[in-house]
Amino acid sequence: MKSDRDNPFRIAQEQFDRAAALLALPDNVREVLRVPQRELTVRFPVAMDDGSTRMFTGYRVQHNLGRGPTKGGLRYHPSVDIDEVRALAMWMTWKCALVNIPYGGAKGGVVCDPAQLSLQELERLTRRFATEVGIVVGSERDIPAPDVNTNAQIMAWFMDTLSMQQGHTINAVVTGKPVEVGGSLGRNEATGRGVSLMVREWARRHGRRLDQLNVVVQGFGNVGGVAAALLAELGCRVIGVGDASGGYVCRDGLDIAGMRRYAAHHPRRLLAGYSAPGVERIAGDALLETPCDVLVPAAMENQITDRNAARIRAALIVEGANGPTTPLADAILDERGIAVVPDILANAGGVTVSYFEWVQGLQSFFWNEHDVNARLEHIMVDAFNQVCDLAEQRRISLRLAAYLLAVRRVADANIIRGLYP
Ligand code: NAD
Repeated sequence: MKSDRDNPFRIAQEQFDRAAALLALPDNVREVLRVPQRELTVRFPVAMDDGSTRMFTGYRVQHNLGRGPTKGGLRYHPSVDIDEVRALAMWMTWKCALVNIPYGGAKGGVVCDPAQLSLQELERLTRRFATEVGIVVGSERDIPAPDVNTNAQIMAWFMDTLSMQQGHTINAVVTGKPVEVGGSLGRNEATGRGVSLMVREWARRHGRRLDQLNVVVQGFGNVGGVAAALLAELGCRVIGVGDASGGYVCRDGLDIAGMRRYAAHHPRRLLAGYSAPGVERIAGDALLETPCDVLVPAAMENQITDRNAARIRAALIVEGANGPTTPLADAILDERGIAVVPDILANAGGVTVSYFEWVQGLQSFFWNEHDVNARLEHIMVDAFNQVCDLAEQRRISLRLAAYLLAVRRVADANIIRGLYP
């Protein structure tokens, strides 16, 4: 159990309360929005390879259905618990509203360590979990997607399970699928691409040259690995990256393409054992404190806290992960003049292209990658400018500005729809 100050749901509620107060939301609307609308806990057996049966616990939380079907990823991790899922679901609501796509927020997860499961066990777990949460998900109700330790293959099993039960293929029931079964071109890279666009737009707004930016990225998976690669392509010098195996730093710039190839061919897609001339191995915690221009936390929650915020030496933090910065750390960073592009904006590229995938699946009409990326860029840049403009106008942080825009939209949708019955 996380302590109260590290509890992501308490943090999510605190962030919401601040925005709700500034927006002067009526109490009855606040009460609706500060808690999830629906929560499902499932406990289910999975047949293991050794002939035993093991019980697993999973969750699906739908935070708010006011703006449309709910949307959010599935996480497979030992630290998954109901409060983490609640927080992630709430953040999804604000994120979808901020980029103005017609969804509410949801999230799900299974308490497990996929590294300890065989591929067959992972498939059986996914198929049984899909069946258990199948009573609340659906292409017009709630649409899952990948998150930490889940991927396109897992989404394909999830889709196949629900399709087999219905007797026909329903590919819009999840996003982040392989392109062979209704996935969208560009979805894999979308979250990292969105992160890289935030850095590019921030540099543009602040008259900084991309080739003079030193970047550090924590997390080298779907979000961090892609963000690092795209930032290197944009001309930034990526001087540090890290994953669950530790940190890797080179002041002259790392060979990100080579490191991604290395991770792809090693257990759990980790960089463990990676070495190259000039590359120094450091502890994961030290990575965050490496002097740089742009720091991209793209791993897990609660990485930048009041314990290390004073030692962060970056001009800009772009939150690839959900909830990497605690409110106490936020206050310290704000005081130190370190800008933070908040998660609900910075990593919204993933859900945006998930939305494109869902639209394409429902219409059975698929776009080329150029169109996907162009539409993504338009939405991300527009949202970034709206947030920056409001932050400048009201002299508030980017996070608070993003919350004001997002919470207002969600509150309006709920108020306009009215109270049923
Ligand atoms: P992933 O499983 O692909 O990668 C996670 C990475 O973080 C791995 O490299 C892992 O080794 C590393 N990691 C785990 N614990 C760590 C630690 N304690 N210190 C350093 N590194 C650690 O997951 P992902 O999809 O890249 O998700 C990362 C974050 O981005 C999560 O917060 C997730 O909710 C968020 N996110 C993901 C998406 C998406 O489209 N996948 C979209 C929006 C937000």
